[in-house]
Amino acid sequence: MRVGVLALQGDFREHIAALSAIGVEAIAVKTAEEINSVDALVLPGGESTTIAKLARIFEVFDLIKQKIKDGLPVYGSCAGLILLSNKILDGIEGQETFGGLNVIARRNAFGRQVDSFEGEIDFKGVGKLNSVFIRAPWVEEVGTEVEVLASSHGHPVAVRQGKILATSFHPELTDNHAVHRYFVEEICKAR
Ligand code: GLN
Repeated sequence: MRVGVLALQGDFREHIAALSAIGVEAIAVKTAEEINSVDALVLPGGESTTIAKLARIFEVFDLIKQKIKDGLPVYGSCAGLILLSNKILDGIEGQETFGGLNVIARRNAFGRQVDSFEGEIDFKGVGKLNSVFIRAPWVEEVGTEVEVLASSHGHPVAVRQGKILATSFHPELTDNHAVHRYFVEEICKAR
């Protein structure tokens, strides 16, 4: 199995390192050919507006959207969560998302005082994790078929819908690779 990490902008190198650390082949992808060559996709943290615009410029936006629709396993952290959400609040004018995840996400939701913070969260099926939040979104509303895996400050920060996993926080920035392992074992390898 080979996982592609979308390498248009953001912390894709850290995702590749985390996946490699758990023995999974991971490559940076940005062309249609590269995206078509992988069995799963990771959308990194970064800036969701920039990633969406670059995906349009590199002409892979519709391909990624379609792949997600067709059931390609996909994991998005932070900006990645925003990009996977069907609807967003506090986006910029005309901001596009790939969608697939039946949620409403709020960008930069944690506000000024706690703009960036670390905190312990309880991740269903994984256990307690120290999590890094950087100008993170939260999930404002979950639709049908969405399972909440973790919450912080009263809002969902990790959700799953079928083959789609999304977290507000950045497990790729810690030494604990449990969330990446969860994605690979429970989502990519699950029948
Ligand atoms: N605030 C960023 C956005 O809207 C996400 C931040 C992050 O990925 N750390 O895309």
